[in-house]
Amino acid sequence: MIALRDLRLANARALLEHDVPGSFPELDGSHTRFLQKVIDQLCELSLKDPLTGLANRRHFHNALRREIDAVARSGDAALLLMLDIDHFKKVNDTYGHLAGDQVLQSVAKTLGACVRPMDTVTRYGGEEFAAILPNCPASFGKVVAERIRQSVEALTISVAPAVTIQVSISIGGAYATERVRSTTAVWIDRADSQLYRAKTEGRNRVFIDQQPEIAVSAEEKNMLFYERSIDDPACLDNGSSDAAVVAADSAMDRLN
Ligand code: GH3
Ligand code: MG
Ligand code: MG
Repeated sequence: MIALRDLRLANARALLEHDVPGSFPELDGSHTRFLQKVIDQLCELSLKDPLTGLANRRHFHNALRREIDAVARSGDAALLLMLDIDHFKKVNDTYGHLAGDQVLQSVAKTLGACVRPMDTVTRYGGEEFAAILPNCPASFGKVVAERIRQSVEALTISVAPAVTIQVSISIGGAYATERVRSTTAVWIDRADSQLYRAKTEGRNRVFIDQQPEIAVSAEEKNMLFYERSIDDPACLDNGSSDAAVVAADSAMDRLN
């Protein structure tokens, strides 16, 4: 049995109350239930960006890993968007850091409003955001990204009486590779390259990398998805297993 008076809960209370006053759980009889609520609320807090309320980078990486697994299982198309506010430094320099913060909050709210509840929008860092869109057909991805771009462009953000700010956003996207399991780093890199392209080609635009065309044979796919020990007789029995390992490595190289 845990004696609650032996636990140091002051920091947990301060953290939770700072975010949402009055949210620290009430002790209503069961110590276990109380502690579970405190743990759940702290976990939720640890996955959120405090300025915008969006998911943070930690949450993003977990969600992206889960999406890679889901795509490998289901074969559904999934899109990753990387988004970066254009010339944001100028906003800070002209209107001040607090006004910049207000712009970040408005843009974050707009991003959240443009996507479906099943999508994960995160603050990736600074003035950069990322969105994971599971089950997103190729024809739909460009439409969503364009809708986001236009919604941000149409925002008029009031930061002081008679002072409004307008910003634009550049967006790069990449579809998950369906037939072979990729890594979060490779997927992010592919979306980032498209974002870089959007920046260098003038900003306030969208570029999306479609699924890379990779021809993977059934044997390659086997090698990529089913780990087999070198001692596994099934592996040794297969006369072409060495060739398959080479082929699988080469398929991974083409992906990376
Ligand atoms: P680009 O169009 O190439 O993206 O230019 P940029 O000015 O948006 O990019 P740059 O990387 O030069 O500047 C990003 C700025 O974002 C600099 C940094 O001070 C500001 N920034 C990062 N995090 C925050 C934040 O939390 N609040 C505010 N107000 N500014 C932030
Ligand atoms: Mg920027
Ligand atoms: Mg940036």
